Amino acid sequence: MNQVRLQTTIAGSLPKPSWLAAPRQLWAPWLLEGAALDEGMQDAVRLVLYDQNSAGIDVVTDGEQTRRHFVTTFVESLEGIDFEHKRTMRIRDRYDAEVPVVVGPVVRRKSVFVEHARFLRAETGKRVKFTLPGPMTIVDTLFDSHYKSREKLARVFADILNAEARELEAVGIDIIQFDEPAFNVFMDEVRDWGIATLELAAAGLKCTTATHICYGYGIKANVDWKNSLGSEWRQYESTFPLLAKSAIDQVSLECANSKVPLELISLLDGKDIMVGAIDVTTEQVETPEQVAQVIRAAMKYVLPEKLYPCTNCGLVPLSREAARGKLHALAAGAAIVRKELAG
Ligand code: ZN
Repeated sequence: MNQVRLQTTIAGSLPKPSWLAAPRQLWAPWLLEGAALDEGMQDAVRLVLYDQNSAGIDVVTDGEQTRRHFVTTFVESLEGIDFEHKRTMRIRDRYDAEVPVVVGPVVRRKSVFVEHARFLRAETGKRVKFTLPGPMTIVDTLFDSHYKSREKLARVFADILNAEARELEAVGIDIIQFDEPAFNVFMDEVRDWGIATLELAAAGLKCTTATHICYGYGIKANVDWKNSLGSEWRQYESTFPLLAKSAIDQVSLECANSKVPLELISLLDGKDIMVGAIDVTTEQVETPEQVAQVIRAAMKYVLPEKLYPCTNCGLVPLSREAARGKLHALAAGAAIVRKELAG
């Protein structure tokens, strides 16, 4: 089998152009409206494809240019959720945010992202990945006044995500990734219903399926949290054996400048591993050699055919200049190790 080794990809998001949304902030409001916003989003997708192509990234995304936030933009299109009267909730046990409220049965009347996915598919011949929020992470970003059970609500979202994912697959998306940063926080729930709802979301898909589990964007609340986790981050230790038994094909984890012991990758035997080799908490651009070092270290635990050099998390809070630099470093670092392997 002549599989390509060390194919590069990104966790998902990239910064938006400053004419589309205020830079360097989460939930940044759109600066355009109506038809101009639609056109602006499409132009932004073209730009991030250009940046990924010129850097040499193998599996590309739309950089999440069509959403304000990876969770709320998805749920905005659903019925049963009140966006007018937000409530304060503690997200991932870490920081308070004003979030929408589940006030009745949650229903998806129409697809959320399929037109964006169709556009992305038409704009590139490369393999494309599309990201969706995972059920547990959605539940953790909403205030629930209706179901009164995180598991019940997660199961509702899993069905909704599955319907959405099937439509994305049908327009030619190659990889559908469910983002589950909440999996690093609520380990008991991951075991009790988190993996089950993730599998429900991915049920029946023939395309490649993935999940991204990180320690969050490079925002202060996350950085402070990471600083409190001690000298070794072993959150993945309880989750990975469960994921190894699941039907999910690929797992994305944080490795660059993290305190995750890389031997935990062995717990995911048989899966494709997206190794985070780019730090998202700093504007400082890695050198290709720094990226290569992370890849070499991870290769002790995963074959190069199953290793996808990636970013630790989304790059949306960074400057575009830093993000472009990081894309180049990622591809160049993978190229160094590919050359060594070709020997
Ligand atoms: Zn992430």
